[in-house]
Amino acid sequence: MDHAQAQSTFSDFVEGSLPERERLEVEQHLAACIQCRTELQSFRRTVGSLGKLKRTAPPSFLPDIKQQIYRRSHGRFFAPRWKLFGRIPFEWISLATIIAMLVYYLAMLHGTPSGVHPAP
Ligand SMILES: [Zn+2]
Repeated sequence: MDHAQAQSTFSDFVEGSLPERERLEVEQHLAACIQCRTELQSFRRTVGSLGKLKRTAPPSFLPDIKQQIYRRSHGRFFAPRWKLFGRIPFEWISLATIIAMLVYYLAMLHGTPSGVHPAP
């Protein structure tokens, strides 16, 4: 096993998911090779510091962000919702407007004009 081979197994080696035979080969190589031992050390450090990033966020994380966006956008985003109706569905409002206009148009089209007399 050469350096490149040994170093390519570091991820599995550190996780302990390396097959027994391969693990022994890597350990043998590490015992004889200072270069790869150093490499493994820095690999472990990197993985260790990455692991610290995986801390879970506090429960107030998302509400805090929403609150901040709400404040910085001067109430444009994440405003508290209306208790009764929720978000105004603009799709439905536009649909209702179109239907109202259509009804008005049809009523005007088919309505018989009154008070209009043909010229003599
Ligand atoms: Zn080596």
